[in-house]
Amino acid sequence: MTTATLTELQTERARLKALDARRELDEATAQTRRADDLLRAALAVRALLADVLRTVPARLAQAIEGEQDETRVHYLLSDAVHTLLDDIGRRAEAASSALPEFGARFRRGARPRSLQTVSQWADKQRWLIAGTNAPGKWRTDLTPYLRDIQDDLSEHSPVRTVVFIKSSGVGGTEAMFNWLGYCMHHLGNRDMLVVVPSLELRDRSFNPRLSKMIGENPPLADLVSRASRSSANRADILEYGANARIIKAGANSADSLRSDHLPYVICDEVDAYKWDVGGEGDPMTLIENRQRNFSRAKTFLVSTPTNADESRIDQAYQRSDRRRYHVPCPHCGDFHHLKFSNLKYRTEVAESPTPGAAEAKVVVDAWYVCESCGAEILEGEKPAMLARGRWIAERPRVKLVRGYHINALYAPIGLGLSWRQVAQKWVDVQGDTAALKAFVNTYLGEVWREEGDGADAASVLARVETYTLDTLLAARKVRRRTGGVDVQKDRLECSLVAWGDGEEGWLLDHEIFPGDTATPEPWDALGDYLRDARVAMVCVDAGYNTSMVMAFCAGKRWALPTKGVTGTGRPLIEDALRRNKRLRVRRKKGQPIEPLGVDQAKALIYARLKLPTPGPGYLHFPADPAFDDEYFAQLAAEQLVKRIRGTRVFSEWKQLRPRNEALDCLILALAACRLAGPLAGGTRATPSGAAADRDDGQAQDADQQSTDGPSASQSGADGAATATAAPPADTAAKVFAAMMAARAAKSRVRR
Ligand SMILES: [Zn+2]
Repeated sequence: MTTATLTELQTERARLKALDARRELDEATAQTRRADDLLRAALAVRALLADVLRTVPARLAQAIEGEQDETRVHYLLSDAVHTLLDDIGRRAEAASSALPEFGARFRRGARPRSLQTVSQWADKQRWLIAGTNAPGKWRTDLTPYLRDIQDDLSEHSPVRTVVFIKSSGVGGTEAMFNWLGYCMHHLGNRDMLVVVPSLELRDRSFNPRLSKMIGENPPLADLVSRASRSSANRADILEYGANARIIKAGANSADSLRSDHLPYVICDEVDAYKWDVGGEGDPMTLIENRQRNFSRAKTFLVSTPTNADESRIDQAYQRSDRRRYHVPCPHCGDFHHLKFSNLKYRTEVAESPTPGAAEAKVVVDAWYVCESCGAEILEGEKPAMLARGRWIAERPRVKLVRGYHINALYAPIGLGLSWRQVAQKWVDVQGDTAALKAFVNTYLGEVWREEGDGADAASVLARVETYTLDTLLAARKVRRRTGGVDVQKDRLECSLVAWGDGEEGWLLDHEIFPGDTATPEPWDALGDYLRDARVAMVCVDAGYNTSMVMAFCAGKRWALPTKGVTGTGRPLIEDALRRNKRLRVRRKKGQPIEPLGVDQAKALIYARLKLPTPGPGYLHFPADPAFDDEYFAQLAAEQLVKRIRGTRVFSEWKQLRPRNEALDCLILALAACRLAGPLAGGTRATPSGAAADRDDGQAQDADQQSTDGPSASQSGADGAATATAAPPADTAAKVFAAMMAARAAKSRVRR
């Protein structure tokens, strides 16, 4: 082998350069068009377009001939336009051989998208692998009520806003993710905004779930590059496909809500959105501004509801066409939507776990009663009923805003709670207002209404009964007696109440002790009176003349100073755990003051005043001069009213008349009953085979709290009740009854 000379190498390089230049020239020549060829092609295409345009109106009209459904019309129009463009491309290719790629480009832009709906996409593409009760391929058949909800979100549907009030366990969140998947994979070119209540929730909850869905579904994973997928857990934007984005925002951050205009929005858990975000107003307004440029924008609002009059999802639902899912009765075939009030159940008393604790009721059986034929429907019949179900709108004239409401009774077997478990939840929350509210929101998907929107003095007055402490004791109805004391400058007022099973209450007396409450006289009279009455516990409002109240309660294990605290979320008395913790700290500093959640207490009292029949929670008033017109007017002194602050509507108690001591005293007596611990002796056996429990359950009904009794959370009242918790001896009771009778006869201090 000889070594190449420098000259030979230089020659070779020049030769290669020449070859490259030659190839470039050939390529350029191949792409070069003669001017007259171009002109000819352009003229041909122009003629073609003019020809086609003339036919457009007729072609479009023909495409939708006889069609009524807007979804179909929209699709058929899109399809006709796609076909038209395809046709133009084909004919352009034929008309101008000089420009082969011109026609191809026309046709590429005209690829029609199929009339696939979100549920069809999900059935075909969506897999659920981890974190579900039903792993595997998504099947809309399993949750047939989600079909219409999803399909309203499909590209060709005319619906603009879908409102979904969801309860736990019905698959509502997956419907949302199905739409996300559909937009990413099927549409591929629509920007979408997902708003969750806060940036923290986005990072902690939403982003991991989105990553999970993408990871479990290869067609989606292919759209998202590895780099952006790994950052999806943190980032506020997920980019996928050619140039499409999912923007992830928190309703607590105005910055995150500011983005470009986009057509599609998901608002998840809207009831948790603040009403003002960073001083810029309602986040919903910021969100709506993003969509303004799009005529076929879509919004999916989904949430568990919260308080009536403050619930965004409920307000949106009320403005919608208000749909309920109606299913046929397997016995008579009538269609109804499933109502909690028709769920019946049977309980048995469980072996008491700890002596003295409130008895635990176990739901052993639950079934549904058809409101047409009264037949009992077993849960095993549910899948067939769901499959034949259909959404029926209360306001069908509303076209573009659809509202869907569903409760936990619809949950497919194995996915959510069974009917028996729902009934057990219901039994468990009785007596605990906060838990009851959570049940109503989470499982019934209903707003929580502070039941007492007020009481009508006349109607309560009309139901006074003839009873005395004697007759109550003889009937063995009384489990405990308590008192509630209201302190004014010139008098003390005290109500005495006898409590029975389930906090059924009998007012015994309402007494007034006149005198300057800064002096000992009225207090001494009160002390004598309460001792004679043998109350187990008395609550004294320490809001006025606090030092005198503290002095009165000092050394009396049966008297507790209290302080009313407002706020609808606050329970009447603290739960045992919190209370014990507070007492441990406070005791070193002297007599503690019990905080009472008075807003819930008012709601509770007014709800109970509306109960139609005696039983748990019912309040009885005696035909006694102490309970006169003035007493009942004071009892009805407050009303729940709506107020508006900014764009926010909320509820607040309003005093309608200057005096409301009767109401305050009754609340204090109820608080005293709860602070004294669980009512003893209330273990009536449930008749076997009969549903002895009242299970009327509509959230808004006044009798909703009818079954609430002492809850386990009120146990452990720190021994405060032990001093006087023992039932009074019969003789003492008789003395007291006689004293009451004598006092009723004597002239009374008029209010
Ligand atoms: Zn029936």
